[in-house]
Amino acid sequence: MQIEWVCQVCSKSVGDESGYVFINEEEALEAEREDSGDVDDDRPSAQTIYELVASTNTVSWKIVHSACDTEDDEVLCYRIDVERVRTPQQLLAWTAQLMDKSWLPWTNWSQTIKKVATDLGVKAI
Ligand SMILES: [Zn+2]
Repeated sequence: MQIEWVCQVCSKSVGDESGYVFINEEEALEAEREDSGDVDDDRPSAQTIYELVASTNTVSWKIVHSACDTEDDEVLCYRIDVERVRTPQQLLAWTAQLMDKSWLPWTNWSQTIKKVATDLGVKAI
């Protein structure tokens, strides 16, 4: 079972060693910082972190060919080469790795992996 990644710029399939799944890590950190400042520490929150995040803007993961990437080189990005996320097993390992990142809930990673599951015809039931 192979995951096909499609470039969001040219809509063509991204072959091994020709592109990556990435996020602007600076934007993700900024989104996390902005929201964390608004939390009232005196009261227990009825919201889960995911509910909190759902009510705000999330930063999107992008899939591109290296050649189609227009992101500024100066910007700190977190990149995963497509050949390293070709199988559901690899995607699972990466998801576990990403869950260590404090900013992950401020991104649309959950939608990204849900879309992969849907494309592969896998259901969580
Ligand atoms: Zn492309």
